[in-house]
Amino acid sequence: MSDPIRGRGPKIISIANQKGGVGKTTTTINLAAALAEQGARVLVVDLDPQGNASTGLGIDPDDRGLTTYDLLLGDVAVEEVILRTETENLLVVPATVDLSSADIELMSTERRSFLLHDALRQPALDAFRLDYILIDCPPSLNLLTVNAMVSAHSVLIPLQSEFFALEGVSQLMLTVREVRQTANPGLRIEGVVLTMFDARNNLSQQVEEDARDNLGDLVFQTKIPRNVRVSEAPSFAQSVLDYDSGSKGAEAYRALAKELLAKHMAVAAH
Ligand code: ADP
Ligand code: MG
Repeated sequence: MSDPIRGRGPKIISIANQKGGVGKTTTTINLAAALAEQGARVLVVDLDPQGNASTGLGIDPDDRGLTTYDLLLGDVAVEEVILRTETENLLVVPATVDLSSADIELMSTERRSFLLHDALRQPALDAFRLDYILIDCPPSLNLLTVNAMVSAHSVLIPLQSEFFALEGVSQLMLTVREVRQTANPGLRIEGVVLTMFDARNNLSQQVEEDARDNLGDLVFQTKIPRNVRVSEAPSFAQSVLDYDSGSKGAEAYRALAKELLAKHMAVAAH
């Protein structure tokens, strides 16, 4: 990848939405795979105790020795927790259910909001020559998600095309504002991506209209369609790009990656 995008170090994007089941993990895995396919070097940090991103990227639970938990709360160097995946250029820091107690344990830690920030700024990470770090957040606005936002340059919000979807986004935006005011003034909204979109469904279209009216350019042009291949891929421990490269889901995540890269190229050129 060209250096202008990287600037100084990788671009760190948190994939967040406090609602569960909206497509955070699916977007993390497949956007990461699509960016890697375009030649970017990508690290996924699994910050959800459910560990679905790790599983979806083919990391067997038995192979998760050191995890995000150790990165945050153990005295462990970042290079010790990074695993390779089957996909070239795609690395992962896996998570296990251990992480579910981290939220509470973090409370009593001095730099509790900055632990992930500090971990992802370790000089040893330079050797991986990463272009992107994508952080898969848990379905909550807890201290783990705050750590993700404090460490990130931007937040990418998957929005499921359903009732009340936008209400959740307002709440999320408040948290983003709070993080800006306290710990990370430069935090940007990378964009909102419509997930599980069904063009034949009036509700999907209504949500899209409302989202574009309210959020304008923040909404990605690319929409991720509801596609059965996308939902099948994780049980084969593959991204949808590997599982069914020609599927509508794979094409959509490729388009999303291209839209993201084009935006970053444009910014880098300024
Ligand atoms: P979250 O991480 O926000 O909880 P997930 O990414 O796990 O959400 O997605 C929730 C469920 O929806 C999963 O079963 C996933 O396979 C399914 N899903 C996500 N995106 C799509 C899609 N585009 N088409 C079909 N199913 C999807
Ligand atoms: Mg998830």
